[in-house]
Amino acid sequence: MTQGTAQVLAGPPAAAALLDEARRRAERLPHPPHLALVRVGEDPASVSYVRGKAKKAAEVGLSSHVHALPGDTTQADLLALIGTLNADPAVSGILVQLPLPAHLDPEPVLLAVNPAKDVDGLHPANTGALWNAHEGLRPCTPAGIMALLAHHGVPVRGQHAVIVGRSALVGRPVAGLLLNADATVTLAHRATPDLGAVTRGADILIVAAGQAHLITPDMVRPGATVVDVGINRVPTEDGRGRLTGDVHPDVAQVAGALTPVPGGVGPMTVAQLLMNTVIAAERQHAQPEVTGELVR
Ligand code: ADP
Repeated sequence: MTQGTAQVLAGPPAAAALLDEARRRAERLPHPPHLALVRVGEDPASVSYVRGKAKKAAEVGLSSHVHALPGDTTQADLLALIGTLNADPAVSGILVQLPLPAHLDPEPVLLAVNPAKDVDGLHPANTGALWNAHEGLRPCTPAGIMALLAHHGVPVRGQHAVIVGRSALVGRPVAGLLLNADATVTLAHRATPDLGAVTRGADILIVAAGQAHLITPDMVRPGATVVDVGINRVPTEDGRGRLTGDVHPDVAQVAGALTPVPGGVGPMTVAQLLMNTVIAAERQHAQPEVTGELVR
């Protein structure tokens, strides 16, 4: 194992700062912001994620409720619950935990969430607002990455940011956020012929490809900031497996700064979800007439 030289962009202190801000801003509201967590069935990962989100919400003074629907819930029943939550002025944010069971279509469900309560930031009204630099709710992992960079004092303006991966969840929205923060943005993906030639141009390299150790030291410009969004489980001799990122550990020899996996981007996502719930509550408090037809 070689000794890394890159500055470690640790997630936990940046997440703690974001959670502190969420707590402070929540306290200024007349009622604690309320997060409705919707899950369908008993997928163990989903049960655990939702439980974790509810626990963190309580830690920062938010109220939440887990709407746990049976695995055989119909599309109509799920849409009816979303409608009820949309109409309930006591609900600030709605999160539908994915994946849904195979018999349910996630697309109409996500479209049904009032954009003003869409704390995942994935409704087209919010992704469109992001792309046009209008106010809206921003997707959690990308917004968490921006908060992580800001916390560690990494400048973005005028920098060349290269993103590897164009998913709806990470690559595309983080491109929009970096662009809005005045970076020069390049999006690379599976069809990019010489990935290294592109990534070597990066001052800031964001990797969200879901490929363990895709980025090797020769693909990174010395001194660059590298953000590893990958979470890959690789087998170990004891059979338990180990989490590793999309970035090879030896990149620490070359990069100026690097996020660890785990303990980098991961903790930012839930912190940003709670921040989004506070932001949604603030806007609903300022504009109680918001129906979700327009995101301002
Ligand atoms: P995530 O949710 O982490 O963003 P997805 O699996 O949804 O991951 O998306 C993976 C993205 O990574 C896709 O946009 C794909 O084009 C990109 N990608 C996957 N493998 C490679 C590769 N070998 N080189 C470049 N891009 C890749």
